[in-house]
This record gives sequence, C-alpha cells and structure tokens, in this order.
Amino acid sequence: MDRVYNFSAGPSMLPLEVLEQAQSELTNYKGSGMSVMELSHRSKLFTEIITGAENLLRELMHIPDNYKVLFVQGGASQQFAAIPLNLKKNGQADYVNTGSWSKKAMKEAKKFIEVNEIASSEDGNFTYIPSVTADKVKSDADYVHITTNNTIEGTAFRNIPDTGDVPLVADMSSNILSEEIDVSKFGVIYAGAQKNIGPAGLTVVIVRDDLIGHAVEECPTMLDFKTHSESGSLYNTPPTFGVYVAKLVFEWIQAQGGLTAIQKRNEKKANMLYEYIAQSDFYHSPVKEDSRSIMNIPFVVPNHDVDATFIQKAQEEGLETLKGHRSVGGMRASIYNAMPVEGVEALIEFMKKFEKEHQ
Ligand code: PMP
Repeated sequence: MDRVYNFSAGPSMLPLEVLEQAQSELTNYKGSGMSVMELSHRSKLFTEIITGAENLLRELMHIPDNYKVLFVQGGASQQFAAIPLNLKKNGQADYVNTGSWSKKAMKEAKKFIEVNEIASSEDGNFTYIPSVTADKVKSDADYVHITTNNTIEGTAFRNIPDTGDVPLVADMSSNILSEEIDVSKFGVIYAGAQKNIGPAGLTVVIVRDDLIGHAVEECPTMLDFKTHSESGSLYNTPPTFGVYVAKLVFEWIQAQGGLTAIQKRNEKKANMLYEYIAQSDFYHSPVKEDSRSIMNIPFVVPNHDVDATFIQKAQEEGLETLKGHRSVGGMRASIYNAMPVEGVEALIEFMKKFEKEHQ
C-alpha cells in the first residue's frame, strides 16, 4: 500500500473507496464512452449526478424543504463577498471574530456593508470561542456571521448561538458533514469542498428561501443566489467533476451510517489525540478545552527547534502535512471524515516514540 496518512488542512484526504470508484469509472462513465469530465453539463447522465448529489446532501444533513442547495465556484472566499451582496438590507451586519478566516470574511464584507464585531477572541490569540448571546446581536443587523470551525486555530463552536430573528450565516468550510447539525438554525451555510466534501473548485451554499432574490442591484450575476437557485446550479458550466466526486463522497458517508456514525467516529479520533496530549508532559494543546475542534488539532512541543525534525521524521513514517499554520506554529493534525482511526493511532504511536527521544 503506497497511500500515506495525510493530515493536511485542505485539500485533504478523500476516502480510498471514492478514489477507486472514480478511477474505475474514469474513462467510460456508465457506458457513455466518455469520462464525467467530458460529459455535457446538460446531459441526462450529468443531470442524474447533480440531482443525486443534492438529494444525498439533503438526506445526510436533513435539510428542510424551504432551503436551496447551490453548487457554485469561487471557494468559501467568494462567499465572503456574496453574503453581504445578497443579504444587505439595513446596511449593517454582525460578525464574530474567531480567527484568520473570520477576519478575512470581515475584511471583504466591509467593502459592501458596515461590519460590527460583536464578539472576538483575538485577546486570547483565538484559543477560545467567545460567548455570543442574543443580547449582543443588533436588532437591525442584516445577519450574524460566524465561522463554526476555525481551521487554523483549531477551535469550534460547540453550541450554535441563538440570534433570534436575525439570520445566522455560517462559514462551515472545515466542519460541514463532520457532525449532526440543525440546519433550521441557519439562514445560510457555505463551505469550500476541499475538506469533507470533495475536490477543490466546488463550493456548497445552503440558503433559506426567503434570503434569495434580494441581492443589491450591483451584485454580479454569478454571486447572486437567485441565479443559481433558479437554474438548479446550471446557469453556467458547474465544476462537473467536483460535483461527481462530491456525490461519491456523500454515498460513502451514507454507507458509513450517516452523520450520526461519522460524528461518533470523529469524536473518537479527536478524543484519542486530545487524551494522549493531555497526559503528556511534552506535547501541549494551545486550545481551551470547551472550544476544541474535532477536525483540526494543533499541538506544540516545548522547544520549537524540534518542530522541523518532528515533521520530517513523521513524513518518513507516512504521516504527512503535520506542520502547523505559521500564525500558530508547532504542529496541526487535520483529521477530517476520511482520516481513518488507524491514521490517528499511527500518529499517536509516532508521537510517543518522538517524545521518548526528545524529552
Ligand atoms: N473558511 C475556512 C474556515 C477555511 O478553512 C478556508 C480554507 N481553508 C476558507 C474559508 C477559504 O476557503 P477557499 O479556499 O475555498 O476560498
């Protein structure tokens, strides 16, 4: 077996079964004599793929009927602009600042709307999730924006804030499909695909019906939710291969037992790693316990000089991409849905050995 355990924050591991199925269908998809990449996006076969992907996602996340699922491009970063352009009414929006990606979302939104930072954990170097209570939300805010999982800092909202009648918008790029969530608490959910959904290039937007059709006049056609909602995500050529692989990933999640089973397995993997780190005098988690992500787990060692050795030695053992983000330092293990329990076990075994050698 020449596959490694890839702990990358994204693009990240895909399930081997998915890659193998894509491989087996690559040159001749369902007797068409062509690959999915060569199929017209208006063909019957591709229509089956995109409606199949949407239906599976709806089933997996229990998406209510009054929400649309849009398959778009431009990454989560493009949604940073699309959100204010579609939701602006009174002209101000509330943002919770929980790290680098929240900051980027705020910076982009400021071009189009007045941004109120209603809570922030910047004072603690983003190692915790600040409390967001209904009284902090401005009643005339057009929406409240949160980043449910902070990929770089390794924090996550364990409770979804109640924002009353103000729509809650969530960047779920790094924890969508990792656990059960109640979609009805959100006005908009968006996520780049390259972690738990499929290949980079596809972006998923889940938006409540009443938030579609009110974009500001100067909103570019391609950023208007209405454009993609009215056309079934086929206004222009969608990232067809990405949608196809996403469908295979959704089928894989379903075969694992859906989000209940996936969540259990993700919690098990994260707990294994956190418990090992907690009992060790060598490794340390910078994240406050009640704010921990189960997807991205940063950890540091007492002497940063050994970071490079750790990363190199781990790589020699088939444990890839463990370098922490430059803003946090140390190491980061991203353990998305496709990372098997065995991958986390192998990492812990390696960490034990490394600890003995460097203590
Ligand atoms: N938000 C979060 C939480 C992310 O982790 C990322 C990417 N790592 C982004 C936004 C940006 O996503 P994209 O590259 O798809 O624009």
